[in-house]
Amino acid sequence: MKTKHIPSILIIYTGGTIGMRENHKTHALEAFDWSHLESSVPELSQFGFNIDAITLGEPIDSSDMEPHDWVRMAEAIEENYDRYDGFVLLHGTDTMAFTASALSFMLENLDKPVIITGSQLPIGQLRTDGKENLLTSIEIAAARTVKGQPMVPEVCIFFENELLRGNRTTKINSEGFNAFRSYNCPALAKAGIHIDYAKDRILYPAERSENVRQNLFHTMYGSKHDGLYVHKTMDSHIAILTLFPGITEEVVDAVFSTPGLRGVILQTFGSGNAPQKPWFIKRLKDLHERGIAMVNITQCHYGTVEMGRYETSLQLLEAGVINGYDSTLECVVTKLMFLLGANYSPEQLLLLMNTSIAGEITLK
Ligand code: ASP
Repeated sequence: MKTKHIPSILIIYTGGTIGMRENHKTHALEAFDWSHLESSVPELSQFGFNIDAITLGEPIDSSDMEPHDWVRMAEAIEENYDRYDGFVLLHGTDTMAFTASALSFMLENLDKPVIITGSQLPIGQLRTDGKENLLTSIEIAAARTVKGQPMVPEVCIFFENELLRGNRTTKINSEGFNAFRSYNCPALAKAGIHIDYAKDRILYPAERSENVRQNLFHTMYGSKHDGLYVHKTMDSHIAILTLFPGITEEVVDAVFSTPGLRGVILQTFGSGNAPQKPWFIKRLKDLHERGIAMVNITQCHYGTVEMGRYETSLQLLEAGVINGYDSTLECVVTKLMFLLGANYSPEQLLLLMNTSIAGEITLK
C-alpha cells in the first residue's frame, strides 16, 4: 500500500517585523527570537507536516541586510535541500524584494519552493497579518501537482493573499497589509477559500535552464548540490542614477566617478528616455569605454523600456546602454551584482541581461 507523503518544511527566520516585539521603555520594535514566534502560532501543529525552524544568526531588520546575508540564506537552503520539500523564509518587508530577486539568481536550477514572507504587524499582536502570511506560505511550500511535483518551484513572495514571483516584486506600501505589487507579471497564485495557482505562469526548472542554455550561460563558480547550483559571489560595485529634469553634470560626475564602479543603473523616463544633452551622452560613452555596464530601466511602474522607440533612447543605445526591459529596480540591482560577481565578459553580460534567467523580464 502506498503511504501518504508527509511534507517536510523548513522555516528560516532572518528577522523583520514578523518576529519583533515592542520595547516597553522606548516603544521601538526590536527583533526577538524564534521561540516567541513558535508559541505565537500554535496552529502550526495542525498541518500535520514535519515543520522545523532555524534562525539565521542574529535576527535583523531587513534594512540592515547585505549581500553576504543573501549568501547565508542560500547556503541554509543548500545545506538542507535534500531534507525538505519546501522552504519558508521569514524576512523584513523593507528589502524583501531585493532578497527575493537575489535568491532567484543565486539558486540556479531550483526545483523546490522558496516562499518568502513577513508581516506589517508583529506576529504576537492581536491584529497581526503575520499568522495568515506564515500559514499560507507553509501550505504553498508543501503544495504538489497531481503528478507529485512541487507546485511552485520558484523563489516567491507571499503577502496578503497573493503569491508573486520574487524577482518581479516591489514593496509599495509602508502601512497597509497589501504591501507588495508585481506590476509587470500577474500573481502566480491567489489565496481565498482555495489557493488558485496560475499553473501556466509558474516556471519549472527545465524551462528556466532552456532560457539560460540558449544564451551560453554556464556556471563558472558556486557549489553544486543535488541538482541545485548555488552562486555565492555578488559584486556590489554598482550605482543607481535616477534622472530628473535639470540634473546637473556635477551630480552625474559624482556618481560616474565612484571608485571601483563596475555597473550603473539608469532610471530613465517613460519607455526608457533620457535627456539628449551632448555632455550627458558623452559621459555615457566614456563610461562604456571604461568597461562599465550601464542598464536602462524606467521610472514607470508598468511597462517596459523600448530602446530606439524615441530618438532620446536611441542615443542611449548608441552609447552602449543595455536594455533592462520591464525589470524592477530590485531585480536589476541584484541581477547586475550576480552577473558582475561571475566576471562575465562585456559581451556575455550583454547577452545575459537580454536573457530572462529566472522569469525576471518580459521578452516580446
Ligand atoms: N523594518 C522592518 C524590516 O524590514 C519592516 C518589516 O519587517 O516589515 O525588517
